[in-house]
Amino acid sequence: MTRNQQAEVSEFLMTPEMSVIGKGKTFAIRTYGCQANVRDSETLSGLLKSMSFTEAEEEKDADVILFNTCAIRKNAEEHVLGEVGNLKPLKKKDPEKIFVLCGCMAQEEGIVDTLLKKYPQVDIIFGTHNLDRFPELLADFMHRRQRIVDVESIEGRITEGLPVSRTHRHKAYVNIMYGCDKFCTYCIVPYTRGKERSRKMEHILEEIREFKASGGKEVTLLGQNVNAYGKDLQMQDGFTQLLEQCALTGIDRIRFYTSHPRDYTSSTIDVMAKYDNIMNSLHLPVQSGSDEILKKMNRGYTSSRYFDLYDEIKAKIPQMTFTTDIIVGFPQETEEQFEDTLKLADYCKFDAAFTFIYSPREGTPAAAMLDNIPAEVKKERLERLNERIGMYARQKNEEYVGKTVEVLCDGISKKNDHVYAGYSADNKLVNFTANQVYAGDLVKVKITEARSYSLNGEMEEN
Ligand code: SF4
Repeated sequence: MTRNQQAEVSEFLMTPEMSVIGKGKTFAIRTYGCQANVRDSETLSGLLKSMSFTEAEEEKDADVILFNTCAIRKNAEEHVLGEVGNLKPLKKKDPEKIFVLCGCMAQEEGIVDTLLKKYPQVDIIFGTHNLDRFPELLADFMHRRQRIVDVESIEGRITEGLPVSRTHRHKAYVNIMYGCDKFCTYCIVPYTRGKERSRKMEHILEEIREFKASGGKEVTLLGQNVNAYGKDLQMQDGFTQLLEQCALTGIDRIRFYTSHPRDYTSSTIDVMAKYDNIMNSLHLPVQSGSDEILKKMNRGYTSSRYFDLYDEIKAKIPQMTFTTDIIVGFPQETEEQFEDTLKLADYCKFDAAFTFIYSPREGTPAAAMLDNIPAEVKKERLERLNERIGMYARQKNEEYVGKTVEVLCDGISKKNDHVYAGYSADNKLVNFTANQVYAGDLVKVKITEARSYSLNGEMEEN
């Protein structure tokens, strides 16, 4: 598939024979990494249920265990390999169990070699481009009991109509595109997820309408770089068009993730300002405040472009909240360049930020750069940055005390079963007390206390 070529679209079909293959058997899925993987796991779960498998109460009892993996960081990969290693005794005890490794790690040749040589307990390995083939691979393995490796490097396909078993009934991830063409020098995603390819707008809108008709309240449009949506379909300003059509479906809440400053347009901001059901929270990764480092990262924008974008959004939507991603200790980052990042954090006063110490990924251009920053300097920079980010996050949250916000309830809090939890329109995690409320209810909550990364409150009874 070349840059401007459209992806081939096919429709998924489950055969009657395949739909009964899992009768009486159970599965468990472990998901690592980003929202794209969470969404893929929902598809894998949907596929398994369509084959009559049921979800195991406990992973150790499952007949099929899947590891849907992430390749973004080396230490995350090592952790996954450790966990896969721990499955060996389970396989010894019950050789009938089937272990599957899929996701981004499976797209890496070196990892597949390691799995083949050192992890005989893994029965099926398949990549990110052929999720739709999983039922076939599983059926084949159940029949022949011979190890299967099926990793495609073809990246031009989109399969519609895959079954999905969503984590929530009230909120959904909706893929709008796959892959990424940006080739930031530190990032492995373009190698593991392939080129940017967009789903057709009518398929996306149909999914949202169906979800809304089933009682769904919130959708998050997913893509590695949503602002590039439709470029491969030769659409002009495709993301703006899509966002507006999504808003017109009347679904209560729309979010999108992730944005790229390089492809963001003023018309997208105008549409965000025009529709109340597009939420006022934006994750806009900056990565660094230094122009030299941004250039080395191949981010395709300067710090002033980021400031201009930030200012334009704030001017048109003053209540917008911002979160970001920042990498510290990129190869050869000087103290001065790091301070540019601190200055940017001071200007933007982010509501939260995912901050990381640079870690090289084999096969990326940055991995070949001279990385001359000692580990303790990187650590110290991260601490200074986190302190700054934490200070602004707390200040921002304190502004909410005494105010009433609308929260989409996710149910009982995972950390404290005396309170409910949910997210405000501007994506603040709110823990709140209430007499009775259900997952999927939109409720008004009066904020009584600010914490660094969450708010506490009481539901206002009608
Ligand atoms: S935009 Fe850059 S960081 Fe994001 S997925 Fe693409 S290559 Fe990776």
